[in-house]
Amino acid sequence: MTFCNFSKHPIFMDNLSPLHHLNPYSHQNPKRNHMLPKSLPPSSISLPIPDTHSPPSSPIQFSPPKVSPFFHPFDEFNELTTLNSVKEMHAQMVKNPKNVNFTTIDGTMMRNYLEFGDFVSAIKVFFVGFARNYLLYNSFVEEFESFGGDPFEILVVFNELHSKGVEFDSKAFTFILKICMALKDLCVGLEIHACFIKKGFHDDVHLNCALINFYEKCWSIDKANQVFYETPNQEDFLWNTIVMANLRSEKWKNALELFGNMQRVSAKATPGLIVKMLQACGKLRALDEGKQLHGYALRFGLVSNTRVCNSIISMYSRNKRFKLAKSVFDSMEVCNRNLSSWNSIISSYTVDGCLSDAFDIIVKEMECSGIKPDIITWNSVMLGYVLQGSFEMVLTSFRSLCNAGFKPDSCSVTSALKAIIELGFFKLGKEIHGYIMKSNLNCDVYACTTLVDMYVKNDCLEKAHAVFRHAKNKNVCTWNSLISGYSYKGLFGDAEKLLNQMEEEGIKPDLVTWNCLVSGYSMGGRIEEALAVMNQIKSSGITPDVVSWTALISGCSQNGKYTDALKVFSQSQAENVKPNLTTICSLLCACAGPSLLKKGEEIHCFSMKLGIVDDIYVATALIDMYSKAGKLEVAHNVFSKIQEKTLPCWNCMMMGYAIHGHGEEVMILYDKMRDKRIRPDAITFTALLSGCKNSGLVDEGWKYFDSMQEDYNIIPTIEHYCCMVDLLGKAGFLDEASDFIKTMPIKPDASIWGALLTSCRIHKNIKLAEVAAEKLFKMEPKNSANYVLMMNLYSSLNQWDDVERLKRSMITLAVKSPPVWSWTQVNQSIHVFSTYGKPHPEEGEIYFELYRLISEIRNLGYVADLNCVCQNIDDNEKEKVLLSHTEKLAMVYGVMKMKGGSPIRVVKNTRICRDCHTVAKYISLARNCEILLRDYGRFHHFKDGKCACNDCW
Ligand SMILES: [Zn+2]
Ligand SMILES: [Zn+2]
Repeated sequence: MTFCNFSKHPIFMDNLSPLHHLNPYSHQNPKRNHMLPKSLPPSSISLPIPDTHSPPSSPIQFSPPKVSPFFHPFDEFNELTTLNSVKEMHAQMVKNPKNVNFTTIDGTMMRNYLEFGDFVSAIKVFFVGFARNYLLYNSFVEEFESFGGDPFEILVVFNELHSKGVEFDSKAFTFILKICMALKDLCVGLEIHACFIKKGFHDDVHLNCALINFYEKCWSIDKANQVFYETPNQEDFLWNTIVMANLRSEKWKNALELFGNMQRVSAKATPGLIVKMLQACGKLRALDEGKQLHGYALRFGLVSNTRVCNSIISMYSRNKRFKLAKSVFDSMEVCNRNLSSWNSIISSYTVDGCLSDAFDIIVKEMECSGIKPDIITWNSVMLGYVLQGSFEMVLTSFRSLCNAGFKPDSCSVTSALKAIIELGFFKLGKEIHGYIMKSNLNCDVYACTTLVDMYVKNDCLEKAHAVFRHAKNKNVCTWNSLISGYSYKGLFGDAEKLLNQMEEEGIKPDLVTWNCLVSGYSMGGRIEEALAVMNQIKSSGITPDVVSWTALISGCSQNGKYTDALKVFSQSQAENVKPNLTTICSLLCACAGPSLLKKGEEIHCFSMKLGIVDDIYVATALIDMYSKAGKLEVAHNVFSKIQEKTLPCWNCMMMGYAIHGHGEEVMILYDKMRDKRIRPDAITFTALLSGCKNSGLVDEGWKYFDSMQEDYNIIPTIEHYCCMVDLLGKAGFLDEASDFIKTMPIKPDASIWGALLTSCRIHKNIKLAEVAAEKLFKMEPKNSANYVLMMNLYSSLNQWDDVERLKRSMITLAVKSPPVWSWTQVNQSIHVFSTYGKPHPEEGEIYFELYRLISEIRNLGYVADLNCVCQNIDDNEKEKVLLSHTEKLAMVYGVMKMKGGSPIRVVKNTRICRDCHTVAKYISLARNCEILLRDYGRFHHFKDGKCACNDCW
């Protein structure tokens, strides 16, 4: 075995050293052999005799000596100004040893050598003379380093002395092992181990403990354990050392086992070990073992030890036994509670998520008992507020922390930034960013990640990227924050680039990384790509979780791909993924979109089975789904069962009534809501105005429009203006509607002009219609609906030239009419009637029934509305065109398959035409049935020959 790596620190002991003669072989062997001799030379070393005949070394002047806390030089040494004079003095003292206290002399000499930078001589004096006083070992290293000495030299000199036969005792070995451990020098340590076995030191407990620590740090815990098992006398000190070593190496199971054995042999654990064991039990959530340690502490009277008590409190709170934690805290003598006891109990409250006022109480109580909160206290309190979602309180505490004179650390700024993100106080966020840079907290990975997150949420991707680039430490969360930013912005190229970069830098993407991409692609409507990412996840060996699947489902649903959403859901079911609240809500949205009542009912049952039907979000989504499916009573039923109705619940129910044209009901609900002291928001007023619009309640509409600004300070959005234009226009106040548009403070968009155009068609106002149409043709040149509306109007006034003109411009501009479709659900299957694609298989029977129905209702007074056909053809042909309308076919199919009294439900993707509206009313009268038809904008509810829309849509 060799001593290795001395090349970095060549041995520079020169012949001028007062100690050089110590080596009996030095002249024969001027080149130092760095190998430890197999057997040590049998020389006993006497005190050093300095070689006074050697030429003086260069007189280097050193800076004035530092005041040593430990060594006090003799007065006569104060005169010494060169290294040489020190050597001379040393020699003299050795020659005349009378009346000299060697310990003091050695200390003085050592310090003088240190002062003149002759570290080798200093070490030699230490080992050869001075080291008899063991207590000075640690102080020596400290002193040595304070003069700029490299501890490695101690090993070098030790090796040399050892190889020259200097005898060392077990204390010296212990000392050297400690240095080996600090320097992680495995080779020297191994040599020492070999040596002391030979010398028979193996039952020296201190040496064995040093050896255990050395192996644990420089090699492996297994080797350390082996030393422990090979030591004959396992004293208490050794037990404590080995358990501690296992704890340090995070060998929790081993440590617990050893601790058990230790108790069996009645070895006593130190309070320090108990503290570390308790911390491990907290980390491992090992409650049973933690309780045993609590018992041990009680049995051996360690509960009067504050550190032990604090660790018991932390252990219980980490194991979520807050009551136990509290009772330990309460049982502590008030005088025994120190700052960290209070911090332990406060952090226990934090984890428990207790009520916000508890923090104030406990902080006050703490101050009353004379202990001032420190930064850890404040950080715990802030974290508690973050976990509770009391974000204003986080910032209040942050201010208190600063006012109390503490410098916020990375924990404080991370909590503050989280609150800032939630509250949207980005200006304050930028200030904190400045503080982070000034205080060098940008090395902290958590602070940086939250900062990246803040800029992402504040829509400043560039800033986020800049913070990211300059972050000194990044973890997978930092990468995820930035990737999610790019992904949600739809910048998938950049997101994927980051993903690759991340992998190149050796950071493996986790499920969160992948889910960011799935979400981004799904939200952007790029379902194919989202599905591709799902496959990528699987191929990287990770299983997509409920978050991945829900992102996909809600992406499909939000982009109108409702059937895809339901398909993805079945697939997730096949892969045994348990849906969560968000999944169920997204699914209900997917059913509400196309009014898939049957599927919606299934999801309703499913949520009952999952036991989440009472959740406020699920209930709200159910109200939405049932009202959009035309089941207002069921929606109201769900609504009335909600105990604590939130604003979104009320809004949702009001909107349900509004789309069905029950304006009065909307207003009643609004009054009830205000009685409950719930403050309306912008959506409430959209619901109110929609209700008024669909029921022709002009005065009420004005009242609410004024009230939202005056009473609630809500600035109307384009949606509110649109409702008002619609309301005024449909009620026949076309000029008022037109004036209203002119005075609007925001630029009218296509929805506003579209609302005006629709009203102009109802009231046949060609002049205003042309104004609106002109705007619309500019804003949406490719939207066929606008052309169709105008053509309808022209044809109803027999202005066929204008109809032809529009048809030509549609051809020139390549405006294509999208396929028109209607569908109805019979039993479990959906029957689609479309202007494109395959005809329905039962088409013959349907037309037979339609002709029968038409002649039947003619007897009741029905006359075909030929104005609905904007083709210049004869009336017979026009009647045939009218009969082919998809909503008629869907309604008739519903009548054919109708069972019992359940209503016929039809969904159409464009506005229902006047003639079909009239036919629907007559059918409801002739066949005594209800027809619910949801068209592009609203619901029509036909019953007893009337429609709930009062023919105004
Ligand atoms: Zn029609
Ligand atoms: Zn109607």
